[in-house]
Amino acid sequence: MTEPKRSEEPGSRQGDRRQTSFLARLAHELRNPLAPIRMALQIMQMSENDLATTRAARVIIDRQLRHLTRLIEDITDVAQITRGAIQLHREDVALTTLVQNALAIARSQLESRQHLLSVDLGREVIWLRADPVRLSQAFANLLSNAAKYSPAGTPIRVHASADEREVVVTVADAGVGIPPDMLERIFEPFVQVDHSGTGTHEGLGIGLTLVRRVVELHGGSVKAESDGTPAGSRFIVRLPREAASPIDKPHVVAQQSTTEGRRLRILIADDNRDAAQTLAIMLRFDGHDVRTAYDGLEALATGEVFQPELVFLDIGMPVLDGYQTARQIRERPWGQKVHLVALTGWSQETDRQKSVASGFADHIVKPADAEHLKAVINRARATQSS
Ligand code: ADP
Repeated sequence: MTEPKRSEEPGSRQGDRRQTSFLARLAHELRNPLAPIRMALQIMQMSENDLATTRAARVIIDRQLRHLTRLIEDITDVAQITRGAIQLHREDVALTTLVQNALAIARSQLESRQHLLSVDLGREVIWLRADPVRLSQAFANLLSNAAKYSPAGTPIRVHASADEREVVVTVADAGVGIPPDMLERIFEPFVQVDHSGTGTHEGLGIGLTLVRRVVELHGGSVKAESDGTPAGSRFIVRLPREAASPIDKPHVVAQQSTTEGRRLRILIADDNRDAAQTLAIMLRFDGHDVRTAYDGLEALATGEVFQPELVFLDIGMPVLDGYQTARQIRERPWGQKVHLVALTGWSQETDRQKSVASGFADHIVKPADAEHLKAVINRARATQSS
């Protein structure tokens, strides 16, 4: 990342204009998903007995919340990247897994516009030493851009090839294309092409910045190609294959199996009552015995009586915050073996480190999704049976 130019810093006229325009775009992007969520809730109230309609409304809420969550994650990531504070968690991972994850993330966008998707990853299983979360997200950004900036029903192609040195993944669309003078600039933060008249203006202009930074952290590169507008675009990602040939490593798929099924005593403490209650409802659906508390002191008192095996603690609670509560829990007899999970809006590496130092075994960024919850519950079961 280059230093911001003086004229672009807040306080200068150009900097102020950039900031105001970014805030306006941000407000617009955050507001966008709220309208369908509110509408879907009204529909659910009006058609309580119509199962098909309420289910359709639920799907809308789920999709819009995912969109909102991703947006906020992108903003957090870009802030971390600007400070150079992003850390990779590398593991041996197959390219097919990364692309599958990316397709799952971008699925709703690809489906809603009925693009003709073709994926060709070759016959050989391509292994990489990579951070699966970050890299899947990067590919998902390329896929959702391909969907966003091309007409409904047009083809999107994902293609991969590899030699012993590098893996090359291309995401190509048949959309509006990119003018030659913008092919480099679109990777800068907040830069967007004015595709006037195409009705395709959404997003904050940070997706490609994240893609480039994540790919470069992996030692690779990404570039855009386009034969002009409208002639479609190709994004070409190159990743080195260093130390990435664990031919017989089926563990990527095998991770799930654990002591499935045993119900747990779970305590949730969160001063946001709705957040605590909804998480409790979800966990009760899975058969767990769940209690809620709304601040740290109440959590300590309930814990004493209830003897939970798993505790979710919000960090930003009044009276006794999550860190203090965690430390005090660890000092009690019932708190020695309990699986402590920080539930927080803060996703930075320093927050995770602080959680670990306070005695937490896990750290979940809100809103917790079903996958993460399942993983945490499995780990809690394993802690209890160890
Ligand atoms: P956003 O999509 O949120 O605006 P990005 O950083 O992902 O932000 O992309 C920056 C800009 O690059 C977009 O605004 C768009 O103008 C252009 N762009 C990205 N992908 C494509 C594509 N596949 N086809 C045409 N233009 C694209």
